[in-house]
Amino acid sequence: MSNALLRITGLSFSYPNGKPVLRSAGIGVDAHEILVLTGPSGCGKSTLLRLIAGLEVPTAGTILLDGAVLSSPGRMVPTEDRPVGYVFQGHALFPHLTVQRNIAFGLRHLDKSERNKVVEEHLELLGLEELGDRYPHQLSGGQQQRVAIARSLARKPKLLLMDEPFSDLDSATRSTVRSEVKHLLKRLGMTAVIVSHDAQDAAHIADRIVEMSNGSVLQQGASPVLH
Ligand code: ADP
Repeated sequence: MSNALLRITGLSFSYPNGKPVLRSAGIGVDAHEILVLTGPSGCGKSTLLRLIAGLEVPTAGTILLDGAVLSSPGRMVPTEDRPVGYVFQGHALFPHLTVQRNIAFGLRHLDKSERNKVVEEHLELLGLEELGDRYPHQLSGGQQQRVAIARSLARKPKLLLMDEPFSDLDSATRSTVRSEVKHLLKRLGMTAVIVSHDAQDAAHIADRIVEMSNGSVLQQGASPVLH
């Protein structure tokens, strides 16, 4: 684990006026690894993703990605400068923007022709070529999720975070989408941290499953067991 791409040590956090959510939590994620975080509701899984993304400021501890500090005492890299993609629960697509414009949203730093090229590439990568002009409400749940993934990957992150990515899909769609996502992440060699409370989802998509409880992360290290 010494060459982990993501390394978190001694991470602590409380929401204002709340009790501690994370207490000196630590975890390492290897390059190209898909790690699934499980654990009871309220144990701090989403909060850990928010801290990695830079949406919350830790009270203690260090987050390193590819050897670079994202958070450490006295240093906090802004969210938009972190090479981290975040697929939120419920996808959080912009309802008033088409699929193309949703994907282009994080690419305002590129000139127009480069931006269009990256959007095209990612429409193709996620099999969304025919849907670029649609609005989110004109898409199925599985298609919306593909747009959310395309939007995150278009910014070329080193790490992808996904919060309960399969929870609002019906059971028929769910197993298809889950294996599509796994194949895509493997094809791209992405490193990913996925929060899921569902044992079947975790077992199917994970290289490794770890459990959180009591504000810390319990390393299990074992390969997932399929039921
Ligand atoms: P999980 O993802 O494991 O269900 P969360 O990270 O969402 O857990 O929440 C961890 C704890 O922090 C819970 O007790 C929750 O009520 C609390 N919490 C989450 N978000 C906030 C917030 N914005 N303000 C205050 N407390 C919060």
